Amino acid sequence: MTKMIHRKITRPVKVGHLTIGGHDEVIIQSMTTTKTHDVEATVAEINRLEEAGCQIVRVACPDMRAAEAIADIKKRINLPLVVDIHFNYKFALKAIEGGADKIRINPGNIGKRENVEAVVKAAKEKGIPIRIGVNAGSLEKHLLEKYGYPTAEAMVESALHHIKILEDLDFYDIIVSLKASDVHLAVEAYKKAAEAFDYPLHLGITESGTLFAGTVKSAAGVGILLHHGIGNTLRISLSADPVEEVKVARELLKTFGLAANAATLISCPTCGRIEIDLISIANEVEEYIAQVKAPLKVAVLGCAVNGPGEAREADIGIAGARGEGLLFMKGEIVRKVPEETMVEELKKEIDKLAAEHHEK
Ligand code: SF4
Repeated sequence: MTKMIHRKITRPVKVGHLTIGGHDEVIIQSMTTTKTHDVEATVAEINRLEEAGCQIVRVACPDMRAAEAIADIKKRINLPLVVDIHFNYKFALKAIEGGADKIRINPGNIGKRENVEAVVKAAKEKGIPIRIGVNAGSLEKHLLEKYGYPTAEAMVESALHHIKILEDLDFYDIIVSLKASDVHLAVEAYKKAAEAFDYPLHLGITESGTLFAGTVKSAAGVGILLHHGIGNTLRISLSADPVEEVKVARELLKTFGLAANAATLISCPTCGRIEIDLISIANEVEEYIAQVKAPLKVAVLGCAVNGPGEAREADIGIAGARGEGLLFMKGEIVRKVPEETMVEELKKEIDKLAAEHHEK
């Protein structure tokens, strides 16, 4: 079986004020969709992402204008900034000079040895890590020739090739991703990588699709890996507002008990016994608890027949009961509340429990 403890046994790597790897926390990343040289728009998007719960943000660096904008962007944001560079070592040097907290570049693709050395030297001087980003869609030619098509083995071999270049230069602050849009391939590659080395892994199912389909696909792939104790950071790649990526990532981490201070909602699927307008109530409560920073389980159930019993593990909840609601805590009914005020009363109780949690 894949090592269940890979997440914790990984080498800790500093990225800004955060440490990736060496513990059980999984850090949420996203990527901006703005033109990076448009500092105003990029900063606005990064701040929106931070508000949504993003912990590390990546920007694309396709040209020197983007690389030059890094210094200005850095001054105006709080999140650690990752700069994504393909091939051009000069962009990497400029981004590092501008204060990038991490760069994503594959050392084997930079070209001449002295260019690689220059980038590694600059990263070392600033104490920033390098993420090696292996992508099934852009594997090195010799690997495609050797394996015939992108396989998990080929992807790990590619990662090890780039890792070796950095290790030979005495550089170990490395994070690795092995992305593929095929879920089976990505899962296999990450599992093999977790067996092959102890550098932290950044998870993602690339080009996973639109908000709905991409969420399902990413949750399936990343979920398997999280279950196996693999993954130190993650990005959900969606063809959507990146804020949605952060929301999905948070929910996924909550599902696996990996979000320490977040509230979760338990709500029933409804059936013919329903006594309240459950779907809209559940959505309202879900939106409300998104800002609650305490590990509360909140239940919203359509009726009292099975309600409180079904959600016994919930810290608090309501169950519909003919024009009114039963407010319950840990499976015990506390009091009845009229339907018109039940959501407000629930919110107040949630706030009380959250405050008690913070006082502890
Ligand atoms: Fe049906 Fe009540 Fe169960 Fe909801 S809680 S699914 S309404 S029985």
